Amino acid sequence: MSAAADRPRVLILGGGFAGVGAAQKLKDADADVVLVDRHDYHTFQPLLYQFATGLLETTGVGHSLRDLLEHRGNATIHKANVTSVDFDRRTVGFDGLAPITYDYLVLGLGAEVNFFGTEGAAEHAFPMYTLPHALRLKDHLLERWEAADRDRKLVADGALNVVVVGGGPTGVETAGAIAELYRGAFAKDYRDIAVEDARVTLVEAGSELFPMFKPKLRTYAAKALGDRTVEVRTGNVVSSVSPTRVTLKSGDVLDAHTLVWGAGLQGNELVKSLGIELQRGNRIGVGPDLALPQHSEVYVVGDIAAITDSKTGQVLPQLGSVALQSGEHVGETIARRLAGKATKPFAYRDKGTMATIGRKAAVVQMLGGRTMTGLKAQLAWGTVHLALLPTNEDRAKAVVSWAGAAMTHQRVGRISVDGDENAQ
Ligand SMILES: Cc1cc2nc3c(=O)[nH]c(=O)nc-3n(C[C@H](O)[C@H](O)[C@H](O)COP(=O)(O)OP(=O)(O)OC[C@H]3O[C@@H](n4cnc5c(N)ncnc54)[C@H](O)[C@@H]3O)c2cc1C
Repeated sequence: MSAAADRPRVLILGGGFAGVGAAQKLKDADADVVLVDRHDYHTFQPLLYQFATGLLETTGVGHSLRDLLEHRGNATIHKANVTSVDFDRRTVGFDGLAPITYDYLVLGLGAEVNFFGTEGAAEHAFPMYTLPHALRLKDHLLERWEAADRDRKLVADGALNVVVVGGGPTGVETAGAIAELYRGAFAKDYRDIAVEDARVTLVEAGSELFPMFKPKLRTYAAKALGDRTVEVRTGNVVSSVSPTRVTLKSGDVLDAHTLVWGAGLQGNELVKSLGIELQRGNRIGVGPDLALPQHSEVYVVGDIAAITDSKTGQVLPQLGSVALQSGEHVGETIARRLAGKATKPFAYRDKGTMATIGRKAAVVQMLGGRTMTGLKAQLAWGTVHLALLPTNEDRAKAVVSWAGAAMTHQRVGRISVDGDENAQ
């Protein structure tokens, strides 16, 4: 496929917050916008743990990219895997799709899980970065409880025990949500199993949870996890994982058939083939306009980029709000360049750092240092995350699910659909 002679082509790689943000800001641009993702849906990563624990259903965390963008007229979507990028020839290669040339390129391929070489993790751990990851975890938890229901001896072997690695927001939110699922819905679903025998343990290498938050929020989070029966083991590192055991560097062996990995990220695998110098965590360094210094027609946005905050001089964290704002900024920048207008450097608007631990338990830290905990923080968290969801319909669905769960403790998504085509 080559660029049309009369209209410039903007090629967007990745349909996450960053890629979708860029495409949405290009809707009125006089250009052909082509977005390619390996999935045909946009994943809402911050709520994956709610999908894995049955609180939200598939369409609550995944939204069709065609539905989001194609009706905009100048946008085309392709489902394909990006395999190569040639900056000099301005061409991108794909698996099963003809190469596409571009006038402007937006790289928004996100990050990938980093197991830090932990033995057995790639084979046996349950990462939480994609919708298939969350589905795999949900099905596995349900399968282990059904197996233990048939054979109680499995409980003593650790079939229901879960180890969550990582004391940041992903690990804490996942551990809290699994503990609430166990003590709430599963305690009623499996009345003959002593639910207190199913343990949830959070392992963190550092000396405390939530290093990005103030000490009082860290203390609050540790207590809120304890209240939900999550056992926290700080200063511990997982050294190996097998299907039924987790070994710590201290030598302790935990009987657990599930290890959830929420501990680390690295830039998308593809960045290593681009022939450019990478920053910490395999992220791509960009200039103040988010373009590659060597190629002003190539913009890098979201988790894959190392964006320096113009206010603090620090590299911005890998967050949905950074991805969305950087993508939108680049969409606007390209639209302005196409219209022959001047462009502006990127300036991040910090809406605070926040995480939930469970029902009515959350922490929020605002830029000026103000903090919130409890229900108030959870409402603030909900407001910020609703704003990140791509459509009003998605927002309405999330509000209905959250309100339903808050009132009834119900988890309507806790079913597994097996893929056996001979099943009746
Ligand atoms: C479990 C979890 C919880 C989180 N919670 C929060 C939170 O509470 N608040 C917050 O602000 N942020 C949170 N984040 C971070 C936030 O989700 C990310 O910062 C954000 O999703 C990054 O957006 P992105 O567009 O850069 O990348 P992504 O959302 O990862 O999108 C990248 C896209 O590229 C596609 N892709 C990748 N490689 C290829 C390829 N080779 N070919 C084709 N397509 C490809 C992927 O399919 C994906 O659609 C969380 C992240 C996780 C994993």
